[in-house]
Amino acid sequence: MVKILDRNFELSYPKELIAERVKNVAERLNQDYEGKNPVMVCILNGAFMFAADLVRYLTFQPEVVFAKVSSYEGMSSTGCVKELIGVNVDVRARDVIVVEDIVDTGVTMYNLLPQFFSKGAASVKVCTLLQKPECLTVPLKVDYCAMEIPNAFIVGYGLDYNGMGRNYGDIYTVTE
Ligand code: 5GP
Repeated sequence: MVKILDRNFELSYPKELIAERVKNVAERLNQDYEGKNPVMVCILNGAFMFAADLVRYLTFQPEVVFAKVSSYEGMSSTGCVKELIGVNVDVRARDVIVVEDIVDTGVTMYNLLPQFFSKGAASVKVCTLLQKPECLTVPLKVDYCAMEIPNAFIVGYGLDYNGMGRNYGDIYTVTE
């Protein structure tokens, strides 16, 4: 059990399990992108730890770039996506892999992906650490997902609660 600001969180996904799942996703990417040089867009802030671990297992050469979007305040999605730092590489004719921490409603990814197609990307795939499948509200295709989880608010391994808790290696779920 950990306390972050005003809430208690209990351990749900230990670091050993996360490492195993991240490795599985990397192996799938290694098969699909062998010999290619995709642009990997790490979505800040939440995906920094996932991306850092994921890229270490890759056997192809990705170009790793960062973008920052924001749609969450406190413990719920605002439904409106703000792009705070954009992608400044030319994605024309490139394969793009968007690396996200968690797909919840899917609104963030759904709104972000068209820009890569409109800039001429050859392909655009979503690679997320976590997905809450029962929360999806848009027809988003999630291509790579390390772990599917139930609908509850989580922190750790890059994910925050009001800016705190990103540093934990394990993932915790809020208690009622
Ligand atoms: P979506 O647009 O899919 O509803 O939300 C995606 C974003 O919401 C994620 O990138 C993440 O920042 C945030 N988010 C969704 N669920 C959670 C959660 O359980 N915990 C935390 N810390 N952030 C979440």
